Amino acid sequence: MKKVIVIGGGPAGMMAAIKASENNKVILVEGNERLGKKLFITGKGRCNVTNAKDISEFFEYIPGNPNFLYSSLYTFTNEDVMSMFTTLGVDLKIERGDRVFPKSDKSSDIIGALEKKLNASGVEIHLNSKVINLLSKDSAIIEAVLSNGERIQGDYFILATGGKSYPSTGSRGDGYKFAEDLGHKIVEPKPSLVPIEIKEEFIKELQGLSLKNIQVTLFKENKQIYKSFGEMVFTHYGVSGPVILSASRYVKSQGEYKISLNLKPALSEQELDSRIQRDFKKYINKDFKNSLEDLLPRKLINTIINLSNIDPNKKINTVTKEERKSLVYLLQNLSMKVKGLRPIEEAIVTAGGVSIKEINPSTMKSKIIKNLSFCGEVMDVDAFTGGYNVQIALSTGYIAGEKVGDEL
Ligand SMILES: Cc1cc2nc3c(=O)[nH]c(=O)nc-3n(C[C@H](O)[C@H](O)[C@H](O)COP(=O)(O)OP(=O)(O)OC[C@H]3O[C@@H](n4cnc5c(N)ncnc54)[C@H](O)[C@@H]3O)c2cc1C
Repeated sequence: MKKVIVIGGGPAGMMAAIKASENNKVILVEGNERLGKKLFITGKGRCNVTNAKDISEFFEYIPGNPNFLYSSLYTFTNEDVMSMFTTLGVDLKIERGDRVFPKSDKSSDIIGALEKKLNASGVEIHLNSKVINLLSKDSAIIEAVLSNGERIQGDYFILATGGKSYPSTGSRGDGYKFAEDLGHKIVEPKPSLVPIEIKEEFIKELQGLSLKNIQVTLFKENKQIYKSFGEMVFTHYGVSGPVILSASRYVKSQGEYKISLNLKPALSEQELDSRIQRDFKKYINKDFKNSLEDLLPRKLINTIINLSNIDPNKKINTVTKEERKSLVYLLQNLSMKVKGLRPIEEAIVTAGGVSIKEINPSTMKSKIIKNLSFCGEVMDVDAFTGGYNVQIALSTGYIAGEKVGDEL
């Protein structure tokens, strides 16, 4: 029986500790006063714990090194995650986009279930225990040094310290430094799934407006690089919401990026034109500025009128065909220049991390250090929103814990 030290009590570390405890003595070391602080805020406090799509479809939603995750996702699948939580007494429900949540809408139920399992498995949990260094000799870790000076010896170590975003949850990128000191290559950590700042001033008038069922197209140097449907919200600096967060994955620090919104993606150009003609007939004696109420949310009307270059006080019956056509174009191509991404601290996930080239995908074991494995977001893997990131943490944690005893 080995003494296994798991560093980091997020979903990846908790799962690794649970699985490793089947054959080993396990100590779970967490810097915070409680486990799963980031998990607690996931899914706006409801925790989108996985996705109910067939596991074969997951890889389309993982832009960051999907192939590396084949083995782990097929070993501990979304079905396995759902059945684990159901067995632990958490009823689940499936929402739009096949997102899986606890029926209670409480992320604390997910954390509580994992804690229950950790306790039942005899895992020793050390809270308020921040690791500051991992001491090694002859390509093997000997002990973890804590900030209070305490040292924890072990036969095997699992690094599950998460990414670099939302540092108040305890995920500050410490694992990158430990891995680098041990000789691992770190792919530069970058924000992924992060709000986007916009150059246009009109963004400020729209703050707080959420739009459903819109189409977002991202262009780099006028070449389309991403397109998707969904929900978004305007903020004081730009745009956010699920479809924007996914688009942000493709915005790099170099280059000119533009976002184009189709506010009426369900209608063709002709259909939208006919729709506007019907509205114009209805409001024939009104001014242009009072004719868009049926078509657009109130908060958007002023901005669209200003951008349309049509005199707001013009009577509807004097709006020309060209003006109407340009209005149709504007509604389907509302263009905004990207100023940049919000900082990594505000990102839902970190892209980059410990290079997967130096990790065995079937075991999560380091190819450099004999008694070290990785799991979760500390590695260079990342997915879109939809429950995929927690699933990745649980699947890689499962394998890291299971394979502790195996040879490289
Ligand atoms: C606002 C927000 C909402 C999200 N919503 C969802 C969602 O609904 N569904 C989804 O799939 N994903 C979601 N995610 C992403 C998801 O939370 C993460 O991908 C996931 O938590 C990663 O798990 P992890 O265990 O690898 O890392 P983390 O959850 O970050 O856990 C790492 C743990 O390690 C501890 N730690 C770090 N350094 C040390 C150290 N030196 N010593 C001791 N302990 C240390 C930290 O305190 C932390 O508890 C969301 C993220 C955010 C920020």
